Amino acid sequence: MNMKSTSQIDFTGKTLLLVITGGIAAYKSLELIRLIKKAGGNVRAILTKSGEQFVTPLSVSALCEHEVYTDLWSLKDETEMGHIRLSRECDGVIIAPASADFIAKMAHGLANDLASTMLLAADKDILIAPAMNHRMWSHPATQDNLKTLEQRGVGIIGPNEGDMACGEFGPGRMSEPEEVLCAAYKFFFNRPLAGLKALVTAGPTFEAIDPVRFIGNHSSGKQGYAIAEALIRAGAEVTLISGPSSETPPQSCKLINVHGAQEMLEATQSSLPMDIGIFTAAVSDWSPINTADQKIKKRDDHSPPQITLKENPDILKTIASDKQRPPLVIGFAAETENLIENAQAKIQKKGCDWIIANNVGAENIFGSDENHVYLVTSQTQEEWPRSSKKQVAQRLVETITEQLDHDTSTTNTKHAAE
Ligand code: C5P
Repeated sequence: MNMKSTSQIDFTGKTLLLVITGGIAAYKSLELIRLIKKAGGNVRAILTKSGEQFVTPLSVSALCEHEVYTDLWSLKDETEMGHIRLSRECDGVIIAPASADFIAKMAHGLANDLASTMLLAADKDILIAPAMNHRMWSHPATQDNLKTLEQRGVGIIGPNEGDMACGEFGPGRMSEPEEVLCAAYKFFFNRPLAGLKALVTAGPTFEAIDPVRFIGNHSSGKQGYAIAEALIRAGAEVTLISGPSSETPPQSCKLINVHGAQEMLEATQSSLPMDIGIFTAAVSDWSPINTADQKIKKRDDHSPPQITLKENPDILKTIASDKQRPPLVIGFAAETENLIENAQAKIQKKGCDWIIANNVGAENIFGSDENHVYLVTSQTQEEWPRSSKKQVAQRLVETITEQLDHDTSTTNTKHAAE
């Protein structure tokens, strides 16, 4: 669904719990309440002590048409709807604006007021709309806290760049209420891939030389793990087949840990059939013909061991020609020259539908949190601006959704014509 118009968003029957923390952007949250209500939803609101410095409980409760919650120790709140029940009785939690202080509290699990205590007890998805001075935003402490939250699956919308209330310019302005509304709809409720099964290979492969040594590579697995997470958020049932990686896998995927290419191939084959196959793994091209049973010892004559290599199976190519081939097969390609030409040649050679190509020669991508990629098909190419691996994953999942929608409508039109 293209989110160009907020009028397409329907929150009927849904209740969102909005936490308004202290920041000049709190006024935008009043408009956000109005938009959620206009879209048919209910809003329950918690106003922090600092939030109260910017908007009044009266305006918030008038817009919510419900009492606003401000105090953890209010007996009335605790008996009528305690901090546990607040999150149990909503469908999602939005923190807008999310101040630097509140983000830090969330990252460190503090629970010293109603909002932070509710969050620790929350069993719902959480979306934050940060708002702060641009230096506070860029500060390593804030960025580390955001990373922690992102890893826990917290959604982040914005901030935007622009003039700030303090007279400075930079990133830190809270996203506009319409943007938060669209993000909330997508994050909490839009599950375009529900009912579909997706397979993702990720990380490096380690090809054993002996029980302690291996041939490996620098792949971190970050991009593949981010894709698995974005697919899950879009509603897909995900199997993540991963070589050794220190990344935290998304909570609700089926994770299969493997070491070598052969093991990765077997795990991939036995996971079929799938609707979508995404091959991000940096599979070693070769492995030793023989793996020594014991650790290979240095020799008295100082001669190094001879390790003879054999070529590994090409997992992507094998799956792309399997009789149970997923309808959409996507490969990745790290190139150092002639990026597009090589990617298009790879589509032919491997029989996949798309290649996500990046130029590893020009930019430092391995282990980085960012990626700069091109979506290449046999006919087209599209450059995606350098962005976080999570954003690349999100964009890929949106492109997959559009493609599957297009395939379905083409099939329906064909059937109607028959
Ligand atoms: O041939 P190259 O390694 O450049 O191809 C990269 C693409 O092929 C990636 O999608 C990678 O996951 C996949 N691949 C594979 N098995 C191999 C080698 C690469 O699945 N043995």
